[in-house]
Amino acid sequence: MRNIILLGMGLCGMLWMRAAEPEMNHFSEMERNHIRVATPGLFSDGNRFEIHLENLPDSAFWFPLQGGKLISAYGTRGGHTGSDIKTCANDTIRAVFDGVVRMAKRYAAYGNVVVLRHSNGLETIYSHNSKNLVKVGDRVKAGQGIALTGRTGRATTEHLHFEVRVNGQHFNPKILFDMQTREPLKRTLVCTKSGSRVKLTPKTTTNK
Ligand SMILES: [Zn+2]
Repeated sequence: MRNIILLGMGLCGMLWMRAAEPEMNHFSEMERNHIRVATPGLFSDGNRFEIHLENLPDSAFWFPLQGGKLISAYGTRGGHTGSDIKTCANDTIRAVFDGVVRMAKRYAAYGNVVVLRHSNGLETIYSHNSKNLVKVGDRVKAGQGIALTGRTGRATTEHLHFEVRVNGQHFNPKILFDMQTREPLKRTLVCTKSGSRVKLTPKTTTNK
């Protein structure tokens, strides 16, 4: 009886430990050319996965613009899809996590934009760049310089427009960082899919 209970707990534990399995090696025409696209394979193993950021060393989790000041928050001006962060012109924009470049091009109001896909299931977007330093398919390391700040696309000052997405859907970047102190928030995020919508929430601590 005891063994059966333990076995049950073991299986349950494995289910809760489920990770994202995004496609990291091949990008379709659509993925190479558009920001808002679904991530193939992301929910292939169920409708829920966890993103474990709690044990990442500082070298694996970077604020995208060192010393940057938040000048326009997510959700302002009638649905701003990212956070605007400013330092100065041609400053180095850094990859938040290790990842692969899914898109790097000029794209409408975004101007020069870089989209990174991460194996944890997140995508991060860096836009208005004066110059992109990477190309599609490049493997990048967390903290690596991937672009320089600019005002290409629809921008009135040099800054970084930074987005966080899952399966094409945007989320407030403050789910990853304290946007005032720039401190990475090292915790577990739970990602659940319901229909075509994705929910991304910090995991609440329980004794389960
Ligand atoms: Zn913006």
